[in-house]
Amino acid sequence: MAVPKRKVSPSRRGMRRAHDSLKVAAYQECPNCGELKRPHNMCVACGHYNNREILSIEA
Ligand SMILES: [Zn+2]
Repeated sequence: MAVPKRKVSPSRRGMRRAHDSLKVAAYQECPNCGELKRPHNMCVACGHYNNREILSIEA
């Protein structure tokens, strides 16, 4: 069985894990309805994007 030649040092292990953290999802307030929405995405609550109505939400 192939086996690693040397033990990974605590420093190297830390360097490898430096990119492992999860990012918090970005949210912005919708300028039309004030609901939180993902940037560069149509507002799920009111269907607006770029200050225009893309999709009419029947409620
Ligand atoms: Zn909205």
